[in-house]
Amino acid sequence: MATLKFTVLAGDGIGPEVMQSALEVLRKACAPEGDELSYTECAVGGAAIDKFGEALPESTLQECRKADAILFGSVGGPKWESLPPNKQPERAALLPLRKAFKLFANIRPGLLYPELTDASPLKTERIPNGIDIVCIRELTGGIYFGEKKTYQKPDGETAACDTMEYKVSEIERIAEVAGQTAMARGKRVCSIDKANVLETSVLWRKTVTEYFKKHFPEVELSYLYVDNAAMQLARDPNQFDVFFTENMFGDILSDEMAVICGSLGMLCSASLGDIKNSLGNKFGLYEPAGGTAPDIAGKGIANPCAQILSAAMMLRYSFGRAQTASRIEKAVRRAVCSGVRTADIAFGKKPVSTKEMTQAIIENL
Ligand code: NAD
Repeated sequence: MATLKFTVLAGDGIGPEVMQSALEVLRKACAPEGDELSYTECAVGGAAIDKFGEALPESTLQECRKADAILFGSVGGPKWESLPPNKQPERAALLPLRKAFKLFANIRPGLLYPELTDASPLKTERIPNGIDIVCIRELTGGIYFGEKKTYQKPDGETAACDTMEYKVSEIERIAEVAGQTAMARGKRVCSIDKANVLETSVLWRKTVTEYFKKHFPEVELSYLYVDNAAMQLARDPNQFDVFFTENMFGDILSDEMAVICGSLGMLCSASLGDIKNSLGNKFGLYEPAGGTAPDIAGKGIANPCAQILSAAMMLRYSFGRAQTASRIEKAVRRAVCSGVRTADIAFGKKPVSTKEMTQAIIENL
């Protein structure tokens, strides 16, 4: 019995619609254990730009600092696309949040139920039992955070450069997350790099090899170059169990994984760091893999499953409530597999609304 204290950043587009669903499911799922939800809803993204003139107001950051976790919706949309890049909702809200809470590990389960194989662009015979893999992406290092500049070459031509840098400690801490994740699953990890070309990848591979030898001797470690990994993921995703990689490769591969797993409406994620919350668990930010889906926003038809499953990850990692998290995950699966489907995963079934999908999940808890 505890009070679960988190900050709700619903954001823009379908964010507030699916967040509503996640909060309802959380409330119902936590009640039997006597756990109470205590959350503050704050503005972020485009909504915050409209209200406060910035995507991540200091007041929102302050509330996040007081909480044990952040449940995030998604941010952005056509209304804010003409702003300068560094003012745009995603860049000006998500990147500073990741930085402020040192959220260096993004864990994204790639789960496709066997009953939903139609949702994947892959042929069903390649994934007869669905997909069940995990992508772990390093989130606060590499080329997105290195020094960048645009400058004049001596011959007068304009050039630009971005710097990719990784320290041993940054590689070791993401290797630790990958190792722990593998230990809780099939004890197989694939480390993805470009060690035939990049110095950072040579260091990555050496560090990962030594780290696993010392700390995870039971885990089977393999390596792939990123270009091959992109092909293997499309050819036979279940050859992976857990794969992990640096920031930019992970950005691309995690989206490839999202598409082969069917709808973005089903995929959740957790971003974790080393910061402990007041319960001694990991502080984390939990969000769906998809964006604000402007094409369906406001219509009440968005799939709430990704947001609900993100809330389940929050219970597991930041609140130590693995059982409640499993109950939610099973309820989502039962509801979807019983044929209750929003339009993105309907495939011949009569599509239901966000509210009806949420209700079916609650009934299956
Ligand atoms: P998107 O993920 O919003 O939408 C892509 C497609 O997936 C759309 O057809 C959409 O309807 C569908 N989709 C996504 N989530 C769904 C759900 N829950 N249920 C049903 N269908 C769903 O990607 P986009 O169109 O490239 O981006 C739209 C906006 O979202 C942009 O402003 C982008 O910057 C922003 N974005 C934000 C985040 C984030 O906040 N983390 C992530 C990605 C994109």
